[in-house]
Amino acid sequence: MEHRPSAGDAAQPIYLDHAATSPLDPAVRAALLPWLEERFGNPSSVHRHGRRARAAVDDARDQVAAAAGCASREVIFTSGGTEADNLALRGVLERWGAERGRHLVVSAVEHEAVLATAQGLAEAGRADLTVVDCDRRGRIDPAAVAAAVRADTVLVSVMLANNEVGTVQDVPGIASAVRARNPRTLVHTDAVQALGRLPLGLGALGADLLSLSAHKAYGPQGVGALVARHGVFPAAQVTGGGQERGRRSGTENVAGIVGFGVAALVAQRRRETDASELSRLAGWLTDLLTESVPDLEPTGDPAVRLPGLCSFVVPGSHSDLLLAVLDELGVCASAGSACSSGAPVPSHVLQAMGFGELAGSALRLSLGRFTTGAEVETAAELVRVAVARVRGGGGVGAPIR
Ligand code: PLP
Repeated sequence: MEHRPSAGDAAQPIYLDHAATSPLDPAVRAALLPWLEERFGNPSSVHRHGRRARAAVDDARDQVAAAAGCASREVIFTSGGTEADNLALRGVLERWGAERGRHLVVSAVEHEAVLATAQGLAEAGRADLTVVDCDRRGRIDPAAVAAAVRADTVLVSVMLANNEVGTVQDVPGIASAVRARNPRTLVHTDAVQALGRLPLGLGALGADLLSLSAHKAYGPQGVGALVARHGVFPAAQVTGGGQERGRRSGTENVAGIVGFGVAALVAQRRRETDASELSRLAGWLTDLLTESVPDLEPTGDPAVRLPGLCSFVVPGSHSDLLLAVLDELGVCASAGSACSSGAPVPSHVLQAMGFGELAGSALRLSLGRFTTGAEVETAAELVRVAVARVRGGGGVGAPIR
Protein backbone atom coordinates (compact mmCIF):
# COMPACT_ATOMS: atom_id res chain seq x y z
CA MET A 1 0.00 0.00 0.00
CA GLU A 2 1.64 3.24 -1.09
CA HIS A 3 0.80 5.15 2.07
CA ARG A 4 2.35 2.53 4.32
CA PRO A 5 6.09 2.98 3.86
CA SER A 6 8.35 1.19 6.30
CA ALA A 7 11.23 3.63 6.63
CA GLY A 8 11.96 7.21 5.70
CA ASP A 9 13.70 7.92 2.46
CA ALA A 10 13.18 10.43 -0.30
CA ALA A 11 11.20 7.96 -2.45
CA GLN A 12 9.02 6.62 0.35
CA PRO A 13 8.80 9.30 3.01
CA ILE A 14 7.22 8.71 6.38
CA TYR A 15 4.02 10.74 6.34
CA LEU A 16 3.45 12.41 9.71
CA ASP A 17 1.19 15.25 8.60
CA HIS A 18 -2.26 13.73 8.97
CA ALA A 19 -3.58 16.85 10.69
CA ALA A 20 -2.97 18.68 7.39
CA THR A 21 -4.58 15.99 5.27
CA SER A 22 -4.85 12.23 5.33
CA PRO A 23 -4.59 9.62 2.56
CA LEU A 24 -7.83 8.11 1.31
CA ASP A 25 -8.97 5.01 3.14
CA PRO A 26 -9.16 2.14 0.60
CA ALA A 27 -12.90 1.76 1.30
CA VAL A 28 -13.40 5.46 0.54
CA ARG A 29 -11.51 5.18 -2.71
CA ALA A 30 -13.53 2.13 -3.79
CA ALA A 31 -16.83 3.91 -3.08
CA LEU A 32 -15.83 7.19 -4.68
CA LEU A 33 -14.16 6.07 -7.91
CA PRO A 34 -17.29 4.85 -9.74
CA TRP A 35 -18.70 8.38 -9.34
CA LEU A 36 -15.72 9.73 -11.27
CA GLU A 37 -16.02 7.02 -13.93
CA GLU A 38 -19.15 5.27 -15.12
CA ARG A 39 -21.62 6.70 -12.59
CA PHE A 40 -22.78 10.26 -12.89
CA GLY A 41 -25.89 12.31 -12.50
CA ASN A 42 -27.18 15.54 -11.07
CA PRO A 43 -29.08 14.76 -7.85
CA SER A 44 -31.69 17.34 -8.89
CA SER A 45 -32.50 15.51 -12.15
CA VAL A 46 -35.67 13.43 -12.14
CA HIS A 47 -34.39 10.66 -14.40
CA ARG A 48 -32.62 7.48 -13.23
CA HIS A 49 -29.12 8.95 -13.26
CA GLY A 50 -30.34 11.81 -11.12
CA ARG A 51 -32.25 9.56 -8.77
CA ARG A 52 -29.23 7.31 -8.28
CA ALA A 53 -27.04 10.33 -7.48
CA ARG A 54 -29.69 11.63 -5.05
CA ALA A 55 -29.83 8.25 -3.30
CA ALA A 56 -26.03 8.22 -3.00
CA VAL A 57 -26.03 11.71 -1.44
CA ASP A 58 -28.84 10.70 0.93
CA ASP A 59 -26.92 7.59 2.03
CA ALA A 60 -23.83 9.69 2.67
CA ARG A 61 -25.90 12.16 4.66
CA ASP A 62 -27.10 9.31 6.88
CA GLN A 63 -23.51 8.10 7.36
CA VAL A 64 -22.21 11.55 8.29
CA ALA A 65 -25.17 12.09 10.62
CA ALA A 66 -24.48 8.79 12.39
CA ALA A 67 -20.84 9.78 12.94
CA ALA A 68 -21.79 13.27 14.13
CA GLY A 69 -24.57 12.02 16.41
CA CYS A 70 -27.27 14.08 14.73
CA ALA A 71 -30.28 13.68 12.44
CA SER A 72 -29.66 13.43 8.70
CA ARG A 73 -31.64 16.61 7.99
CA GLU A 74 -29.22 18.50 10.27
CA VAL A 75 -26.27 17.89 7.89
CA ILE A 76 -25.44 20.62 5.35
CA PHE A 77 -22.77 19.51 2.88
CA THR A 78 -20.16 22.17 2.10
CA SER A 79 -16.86 22.41 0.24
CA GLY A 80 -14.95 21.66 3.46
CA GLY A 81 -14.23 22.79 6.98
CA THR A 82 -13.45 26.38 6.03
CA GLU A 83 -16.80 26.86 4.34
CA ALA A 84 -18.59 25.14 7.23
CA ASP A 85 -16.95 27.54 9.71
CA ASN A 86 -17.82 30.52 7.50
CA LEU A 87 -21.42 29.37 7.17
CA ALA A 88 -21.70 29.02 10.95
CA LEU A 89 -20.33 32.47 11.75
CA ARG A 90 -21.67 34.49 8.83
CA GLY A 91 -24.92 32.55 8.58
CA VAL A 92 -25.80 32.90 12.28
CA LEU A 93 -24.87 36.59 12.32
CA GLU A 94 -26.96 37.26 9.24
CA ARG A 95 -29.95 35.25 10.48
CA TRP A 96 -30.06 36.45 14.08
CA GLY A 97 -27.78 39.48 14.31
CA ALA A 98 -30.57 42.06 14.12
CA GLU A 99 -32.77 40.22 16.61
CA ARG A 100 -30.27 38.85 19.15
CA GLY A 101 -27.24 41.09 18.73
CA ARG A 102 -24.01 40.98 16.73
CA HIS A 103 -21.46 40.11 19.38
CA LEU A 104 -19.25 37.10 18.61
CA VAL A 105 -17.02 35.26 21.09
CA VAL A 106 -14.23 33.03 19.78
CA SER A 107 -11.15 31.50 21.38
CA ALA A 108 -7.61 32.67 20.64
CA VAL A 109 -6.62 29.20 19.43
CA GLU A 110 -9.23 28.81 16.70
CA HIS A 111 -8.25 27.78 13.19
CA GLU A 112 -8.01 30.76 10.83
CA ALA A 113 -11.29 29.68 9.23
CA VAL A 114 -12.98 30.89 12.42
CA LEU A 115 -10.51 33.47 13.73
CA ALA A 116 -9.87 35.37 10.49
CA THR A 117 -13.56 35.23 9.60
CA ALA A 118 -14.56 36.69 12.97
CA GLN A 119 -11.83 39.33 12.76
CA GLY A 120 -12.87 40.22 9.20
CA LEU A 121 -16.49 40.64 10.27
CA ALA A 122 -15.39 42.87 13.15
CA GLU A 123 -13.08 44.96 10.93
CA ALA A 124 -15.89 45.44 8.44
CA GLY A 125 -18.08 46.75 11.26
CA ARG A 126 -20.52 43.86 10.90
CA ALA A 127 -19.82 42.29 14.31
CA ASP A 128 -18.34 43.04 17.72
CA LEU A 129 -15.73 40.50 18.70
CA THR A 130 -14.28 39.19 21.95
CA VAL A 131 -11.35 36.77 21.72
CA VAL A 132 -10.96 34.61 24.83
CA ASP A 133 -7.40 33.72 25.84
CA CYS A 134 -6.03 30.30 26.71
CA ASP A 135 -3.52 29.02 29.25
CA ARG A 136 0.00 27.67 28.56
CA ARG A 137 -1.49 24.32 27.53
CA GLY A 138 -3.94 25.88 25.10
CA ARG A 139 -6.96 25.27 27.31
CA ILE A 140 -9.94 27.61 27.29
CA ASP A 141 -11.62 28.09 30.65
CA PRO A 142 -15.42 27.71 30.36
CA ALA A 143 -15.82 30.41 33.04
CA ALA A 144 -13.76 32.85 30.94
CA VAL A 145 -15.96 32.15 27.91
CA ALA A 146 -19.11 32.65 29.95
CA ALA A 147 -17.70 35.90 31.36
CA ALA A 148 -17.25 37.19 27.80
CA VAL A 149 -20.89 36.45 26.88
CA ARG A 150 -23.19 39.48 26.88
CA ALA A 151 -26.89 40.08 26.36
CA ASP A 152 -26.15 40.72 22.67
CA THR A 153 -23.88 37.69 22.10
CA VAL A 154 -25.30 35.81 19.14
CA LEU A 155 -22.63 33.09 18.80
CA VAL A 156 -19.73 31.50 20.70
CA SER A 157 -17.25 29.44 18.69
CA VAL A 158 -14.71 27.22 20.45
CA MET A 159 -13.04 24.33 18.64
CA LEU A 160 -13.20 20.76 19.94
CA ALA A 161 -9.57 19.82 19.20
CA ASN A 162 -6.78 22.14 18.22
CA ASN A 163 -5.05 21.41 14.92
CA GLU A 164 -1.64 22.73 16.00
CA VAL A 165 -1.15 21.47 19.55
CA GLY A 166 -3.94 18.91 19.92
CA THR A 167 -5.51 20.36 23.06
CA VAL A 168 -9.09 19.16 23.49
CA GLN A 169 -11.50 21.72 24.87
CA ASP A 170 -14.30 21.12 27.35
CA VAL A 171 -17.00 21.97 24.82
CA PRO A 172 -19.87 20.56 26.96
CA GLY A 173 -18.67 22.68 29.90
CA ILE A 174 -18.34 25.74 27.69
CA ALA A 175 -21.79 25.23 26.14
CA SER A 176 -23.54 24.89 29.48
CA ALA A 177 -21.69 27.88 30.97
CA VAL A 178 -22.67 29.97 27.94
CA ARG A 179 -26.33 28.89 28.15
CA ALA A 180 -26.47 29.66 31.86
CA ARG A 181 -25.33 33.18 31.05
CA ASN A 182 -27.44 33.74 27.92
CA PRO A 183 -29.85 31.01 26.77
CA ARG A 184 -30.23 32.68 23.35
CA THR A 185 -26.52 32.51 22.49
CA LEU A 186 -25.72 29.75 19.99
CA VAL A 187 -22.64 27.56 20.36
CA HIS A 188 -20.50 26.43 17.43
CA THR A 189 -17.62 23.99 17.61
CA ASP A 190 -15.07 23.30 14.90
CA ALA A 191 -14.69 19.52 15.15
CA VAL A 192 -12.65 19.17 11.94
CA GLN A 193 -9.73 17.44 13.67
CA ALA A 194 -11.93 15.26 15.84
CA LEU A 195 -13.78 13.04 13.34
CA GLY A 196 -12.66 9.44 13.90
CA ARG A 197 -10.50 10.42 16.86
CA LEU A 198 -12.86 11.75 19.53
CA PRO A 199 -16.50 10.98 20.36
CA LEU A 200 -18.75 13.39 18.51
CA GLY A 201 -22.37 14.10 19.21
CA LEU A 202 -24.17 17.34 18.86
CA GLY A 203 -26.28 16.61 21.95
CA ALA A 204 -23.44 15.30 24.12
CA LEU A 205 -21.26 18.25 23.19
CA GLY A 206 -24.10 20.68 23.84
CA ALA A 207 -23.36 22.48 20.57
CA ASP A 208 -25.86 23.97 18.14
CA LEU A 209 -23.47 23.90 15.19
CA LEU A 210 -20.49 21.66 14.38
CA SER A 211 -18.01 21.77 11.47
CA LEU A 212 -16.51 18.70 9.80
CA SER A 213 -14.11 18.12 6.92
CA ALA A 214 -13.67 14.82 5.06
CA HIS A 215 -9.98 15.05 4.25
CA LYS A 216 -8.86 15.02 7.89
CA ALA A 217 -10.50 11.62 8.28
CA TYR A 218 -9.30 9.63 5.23
CA GLY A 219 -11.92 11.14 2.93
CA PRO A 220 -11.44 13.39 -0.11
CA GLN A 221 -10.43 17.05 -0.05
CA GLY A 222 -12.97 19.72 -0.90
CA VAL A 223 -15.95 18.33 0.98
CA GLY A 224 -17.20 18.81 4.51
CA ALA A 225 -20.32 19.63 6.43
CA LEU A 226 -21.86 22.03 8.84
CA VAL A 227 -24.17 20.25 11.25
CA ALA A 228 -26.88 22.64 12.39
CA ARG A 229 -29.26 21.54 15.14
CA HIS A 230 -32.90 21.33 14.05
CA GLY A 231 -34.38 24.81 14.29
CA VAL A 232 -30.98 26.48 13.90
CA PHE A 233 -30.99 27.70 10.34
CA PRO A 234 -27.94 29.79 9.38
CA ALA A 235 -28.57 32.13 6.45
CA ALA A 236 -27.21 30.63 3.22
CA GLN A 237 -23.91 32.15 2.15
CA VAL A 238 -23.92 30.46 -1.26
CA THR A 239 -27.24 31.15 -2.93
CA GLY A 240 -28.71 29.89 -6.17
CA GLY A 241 -30.63 26.71 -6.93
CA GLY A 242 -31.58 26.02 -3.31
CA GLN A 243 -29.76 22.70 -2.81
CA GLU A 244 -29.19 21.45 0.76
CA ARG A 245 -32.73 22.60 1.61
CA GLY A 246 -31.87 26.15 0.73
CA ARG A 247 -28.89 26.31 3.06
CA ARG A 248 -26.09 25.83 0.51
CA SER A 249 -26.75 26.08 -3.19
CA GLY A 250 -24.74 24.47 -5.95
CA THR A 251 -24.81 21.07 -7.63
CA GLU A 252 -23.62 18.56 -5.06
CA ASN A 253 -20.07 17.19 -5.23
CA VAL A 254 -21.49 13.67 -5.49
CA ALA A 255 -18.18 11.76 -5.64
CA GLY A 256 -16.79 13.79 -2.75
CA ILE A 257 -19.93 13.42 -0.68
CA VAL A 258 -20.04 9.65 -1.27
CA GLY A 259 -16.39 9.45 -0.18
CA PHE A 260 -17.12 11.59 2.87
CA GLY A 261 -19.99 9.29 3.82
CA VAL A 262 -17.82 6.18 3.74
CA ALA A 263 -15.02 7.99 5.58
CA ALA A 264 -17.52 8.93 8.29
CA LEU A 265 -18.81 5.37 8.48
CA VAL A 266 -15.29 3.95 8.84
CA ALA A 267 -14.42 6.72 11.32
CA GLN A 268 -17.38 5.82 13.48
CA ARG A 269 -16.67 2.07 13.38
CA ARG A 270 -12.96 2.38 14.02
CA ARG A 271 -12.85 5.37 16.33
CA GLU A 272 -12.06 3.59 19.57
CA THR A 273 -9.48 1.24 18.04
CA ASP A 274 -7.86 4.02 16.02
CA ALA A 275 -7.82 6.44 18.95
CA SER A 276 -6.16 4.03 21.36
CA GLU A 277 -3.52 2.96 18.82
CA LEU A 278 -2.85 6.58 17.80
CA SER A 279 -2.49 7.64 21.42
CA ARG A 280 -0.10 4.77 22.11
CA LEU A 281 2.12 5.52 19.11
CA ALA A 282 2.05 9.28 19.73
CA GLY A 283 2.97 8.79 23.38
CA TRP A 284 5.88 6.57 22.34
CA LEU A 285 7.08 9.09 19.73
CA THR A 286 6.89 11.89 22.29
CA ASP A 287 8.89 9.81 24.79
CA LEU A 288 11.55 8.92 22.21
CA LEU A 289 11.97 12.54 21.20
CA THR A 290 12.01 14.05 24.67
CA GLU A 291 14.72 11.51 25.59
CA SER A 292 16.89 12.06 22.52
CA VAL A 293 16.49 15.76 21.64
CA PRO A 294 17.87 18.11 24.31
CA ASP A 295 15.54 20.95 25.38
CA LEU A 296 12.69 19.81 23.15
CA GLU A 297 9.43 20.81 24.83
CA PRO A 298 6.09 19.13 24.12
CA THR A 299 3.27 21.64 23.67
CA GLY A 300 -0.44 21.31 24.33
CA ASP A 301 -2.15 19.48 27.14
CA PRO A 302 -0.66 16.07 27.98
CA ALA A 303 -3.89 15.08 29.74
CA VAL A 304 -6.54 15.89 27.12
CA ARG A 305 -5.01 15.46 23.66
CA LEU A 306 -6.15 14.68 20.19
CA PRO A 307 -5.05 11.05 19.61
CA GLY A 308 -2.06 10.89 17.26
CA LEU A 309 -0.98 14.52 17.38
CA CYS A 310 2.52 15.27 18.77
CA SER A 311 3.60 18.89 18.99
CA PHE A 312 6.77 20.51 20.24
CA VAL A 313 8.85 23.63 20.29
CA VAL A 314 12.48 23.01 19.43
CA PRO A 315 14.63 25.80 20.89
CA GLY A 316 17.61 26.67 18.70
CA SER A 317 15.88 25.74 15.44
CA HIS A 318 13.53 27.39 12.98
CA SER A 319 10.49 25.54 11.69
CA ASP A 320 11.08 26.31 8.01
CA LEU A 321 14.65 24.96 8.02
CA LEU A 322 13.83 22.00 10.25
CA LEU A 323 10.91 20.99 8.01
CA ALA A 324 13.07 21.27 4.89
CA VAL A 325 15.76 19.07 6.43
CA LEU A 326 13.15 16.57 7.61
CA ASP A 327 11.68 16.49 4.12
CA GLU A 328 15.11 15.76 2.70
CA LEU A 329 15.59 12.96 5.22
CA GLY A 330 12.20 11.49 4.31
CA VAL A 331 9.84 12.72 7.04
CA CYS A 332 6.80 14.80 6.08
CA ALA A 333 5.99 17.01 9.05
CA SER A 334 4.68 20.50 9.63
CA ALA A 335 4.99 23.47 11.93
CA GLY A 336 1.32 23.58 12.78
CA SER A 337 -1.34 24.89 10.51
CA ALA A 338 -0.88 24.51 6.77
CA CYS A 339 -0.38 27.97 5.35
CA SER A 340 -1.45 28.47 1.74
CA SER A 341 1.88 30.08 0.86
CA GLY A 342 3.69 26.98 2.13
CA ALA A 343 5.91 29.11 4.36
CA PRO A 344 5.30 28.57 8.07
CA VAL A 345 4.44 31.76 9.93
CA PRO A 346 4.89 31.89 13.71
CA SER A 347 1.85 30.20 15.14
CA HIS A 348 -0.88 32.43 16.62
CA VAL A 349 -1.80 29.43 18.76
CA LEU A 350 1.64 29.12 20.37
CA GLN A 351 1.80 32.88 20.77
CA ALA A 352 -1.56 32.84 22.57
CA MET A 353 -0.17 30.05 24.76
CA GLY A 354 2.71 32.35 25.76
CA PHE A 355 5.57 30.79 23.79
CA GLY A 356 6.72 34.12 22.34
CA GLU A 357 9.64 33.72 19.94
CA LEU A 358 9.67 29.96 20.44
CA ALA A 359 6.49 29.92 18.34
CA GLY A 360 8.83 30.11 15.34
CA SER A 361 10.37 26.75 16.25
CA ALA A 362 7.19 24.67 16.27
CA LEU A 363 7.19 21.07 15.06
CA ARG A 364 4.01 19.03 14.60
CA LEU A 365 4.09 15.30 13.90
CA SER A 366 0.60 13.95 13.31
CA LEU A 367 0.09 10.21 12.99
CA GLY A 368 -2.64 8.35 11.16
CA ARG A 369 -4.46 5.06 10.80
CA PHE A 370 -1.72 3.58 8.63
CA THR A 371 1.29 4.77 10.67
CA THR A 372 3.37 1.84 11.92
CA GLY A 373 5.59 1.38 14.95
CA ALA A 374 8.59 1.00 12.63
CA GLU A 375 7.82 4.40 11.11
CA VAL A 376 7.58 5.98 14.55
CA GLU A 377 10.96 4.58 15.54
CA THR A 378 12.64 5.67 12.30
CA ALA A 379 11.01 9.10 12.38
CA ALA A 380 12.20 9.70 15.95
CA GLU A 381 15.78 9.01 14.90
CA LEU A 382 15.48 11.21 11.80
CA VAL A 383 14.03 14.09 13.83
CA ARG A 384 16.99 13.78 16.24
CA VAL A 385 19.39 13.94 13.29
CA ALA A 386 17.54 16.87 11.68
CA VAL A 387 17.47 18.93 14.87
CA ALA A 388 21.17 18.30 15.47
CA ARG A 389 21.92 19.38 11.92
CA VAL A 390 19.87 22.58 12.13
CA ARG A 391 21.24 23.47 15.55
CA GLY A 392 24.75 22.85 14.27
CA GLY A 393 24.23 25.45 11.54
CA GLY A 394 23.69 22.90 8.76
CA GLY A 395 20.79 22.97 6.35
CA VAL A 396 19.43 20.98 3.47
CA GLY A 397 22.15 18.89 1.85
CA ALA A 398 24.47 18.95 4.87
CA PRO A 399 26.15 15.67 5.83
CA ILE A 400 24.23 13.45 8.26
CA ARG A 401 25.86 13.19 11.65
N1 PLP B 1 -10.66 23.78 11.13
C1 PLP B 1 -9.62 23.09 11.56
C2 PLP B 1 -9.44 22.84 13.02
C3 PLP B 1 -8.68 22.59 10.66
O1 PLP B 1 -7.63 21.88 11.10
C4 PLP B 1 -8.88 22.83 9.28
C5 PLP B 1 -7.88 22.38 8.29
O2 PLP B 1 -6.69 22.54 8.49
C6 PLP B 1 -10.01 23.56 8.88
C7 PLP B 1 -10.87 24.03 9.82
C8 PLP B 1 -10.28 23.84 7.43
O3 PLP B 1 -10.80 22.70 6.80
P1 PLP B 1 -10.71 22.53 5.21
O4 PLP B 1 -9.28 22.26 4.89
O5 PLP B 1 -11.61 21.38 4.90
O6 PLP B 1 -11.21 23.80 4.61
